[in-house]
Order: sequence, then structure tokens, then C-alpha cells
Amino acid sequence: MIDLHMHTFLSDGELSPNELVQRARKIGYSAMAITDHVDISNVEIVVKEIVKFCEEAKNYYTDIIVLPGVEITHVPPHHINEIAEFAKKLGTKIVVVHGETIVEPVELGTNREAIKSKYVDILAHPGLISEEDVILANENQKYLEITARKGHSITNGHVAKLCKKHNVKMVINTDTHSPENLITDETARKILKGAGLDDSDIITVFQNSLEIIKKYNS
Ligand SMILES: [Zn+2]
Ligand SMILES: [Zn+2]
Repeated sequence: MIDLHMHTFLSDGELSPNELVQRARKIGYSAMAITDHVDISNVEIVVKEIVKFCEEAKNYYTDIIVLPGVEITHVPPHHINEIAEFAKKLGTKIVVVHGETIVEPVELGTNREAIKSKYVDILAHPGLISEEDVILANENQKYLEITARKGHSITNGHVAKLCKKHNVKMVINTDTHSPENLITDETARKILKGAGLDDSDIITVFQNSLEIIKKYNS
């Protein structure tokens, strides 16, 4: 499993970075990103801590790649680009934006600004994303997320259908906050099937996650 969206107690996750990695490797993860929630109040400290952890992790975990990330969360849409740029300058690799899930009052325009920013890699749980934004995601080569997370996953089918129609790359992530949120490849496959994807689409989704890992694992 490659999982590019996970939380630790550096934001609202339950586990320390080390325990999260340890539990992930035990169920067969090969790569992951720690992407704690950030806004302007904590981006500096969170990126610093995650980058420090990932540098250390390289030295003692030989069977799993752990990349530093952030999830820009509930930031006013017009500030997303600048905070994403700032996070990258601070050394983060993967920038995820907390998209317009239908189960939270995420500001309208968040999906659009995330897709427009060259510093954003993945738009997470984009809810009932518009076709216009999906077309823009294709032009800007953004990855859209199919999520294993309860609530956010309600709109997976909608996201998958539009991504397929407009050739937008998808990734599957767990958005883990607790140990029981971690999944196996088998469960990931079932979730992708449930979103309406076929076997060849599913292979492509897994390849997309690997492509992001390869881009940033240096
Ligand atoms: Zn989120
Ligand atoms: Zn999240």
C-alpha cells in the first residue's frame, strides 16, 4: 500500500509519527506521507517536525519510504497558493489540500484554488467537485483523491466518474487518524471498485501513487 494522506498527533491524529510508521509497515505499506493539518498558525512548526522525523526515519526504516507532507486545511481559498508555496520552501514534499467534502463546511472555491496552485500535489476528498474543476485538474496535472475515510468517501463515485471522463489521475489514500484506519491493498482495491473503477483503472491508480513517491523520494 502507498498512502499519501495520513495524520499524527502533530495535528489531530492519535499516533506519534513512529507508531504510525511502525503500524503501517506491519500491515504491508511500502511508502507513505505524513500530512498533518496546517494553516498559517502551525505550518512552520509542523513542517519542521515532520521533515526532521522523515530525515531520521530514512536511517532506520529500510522497508518503507516516509515522505514529509502537509494537508492545508480550512484555509481561505485565496491563501492556499501562498501557504502551499511556503510549505514547500520549508522543505515539505507532498502538499495535499483538504477539499470540499460534503461532510464539513469547507469554503467554496477551495477545490479551484488547490487545482490552480502549482505547489499543490493532491486535492483530497473533493466532494461534489464541478466538471469545470475536473477539466482544470487535467490541464494542471493534479491528482484527485479517492478516500477510504468514512463520510468523505460518500462522493468517491462522483469523483471517479469525472476523473475517468476527463483523464485526471487519481490516488487512493486513507486519511488515517487512528490505527484502525490503515488498510491493505486488498481493501484499497475494494474501495476503488466500489467507486466504479475497473481492474485496469485500479492498476493505474496504484501506479499514480508510485509516480508521486518516485518524484519526491530522493
Ligand atoms: Zn482532509
Ligand atoms: Zn486529512
